[in-house]
Amino acid sequence: MEREVVAYPDPVLLRETKKITEITPEIRELAEDMVETMYAKDGVGLAATQVGESWRLAVVDVSGPKERSSLIFLVNPEIIETSGEVESEERCLSVPGFQGKFKRAEKVKVRAQDLDGKEFVIDAEDLLAICLQHEIDHLDGRVILDRSSRLKRSLYDKKIQKWLKRKKRSG
Ligand code: ZN
Repeated sequence: MEREVVAYPDPVLLRETKKITEITPEIRELAEDMVETMYAKDGVGLAATQVGESWRLAVVDVSGPKERSSLIFLVNPEIIETSGEVESEERCLSVPGFQGKFKRAEKVKVRAQDLDGKEFVIDAEDLLAICLQHEIDHLDGRVILDRSSRLKRSLYDKKIQKWLKRKKRSG
């Protein structure tokens, strides 16, 4: 089932997530729903916080919503090694209308578990490396605004406040 994507400044996006100690049917269902939501929104990654759930769980598929050939479920992912530095241009489904350039590690090694609780390690570079860093940021309660300049962030905050007021007035 596709779920609604939560947008900044919803506090769930800014809270650190809980580690998953048991992969229950609810966690599996959440993971499947996240995949459906990611594809429906043409995304290449989605973190549980983005559908309002505070679990350390993310899904990525950098092949894109049309191809759908590289799906990875990440339970409790952690970055265990990084190297190099690149500048990446990123957007986020939860920060609509915002785009920025950020410094990221060029390569990352990520340790996680799959939906059967089996541990694995990914050596990632290029888009997958960026995507993993972006999603793990979400699981640490960080959005791309936290990595942008104070000025860019305050401009975006103002825009959002205006937009929320307008929404309130129109009911
Ligand atoms: Zn995001």
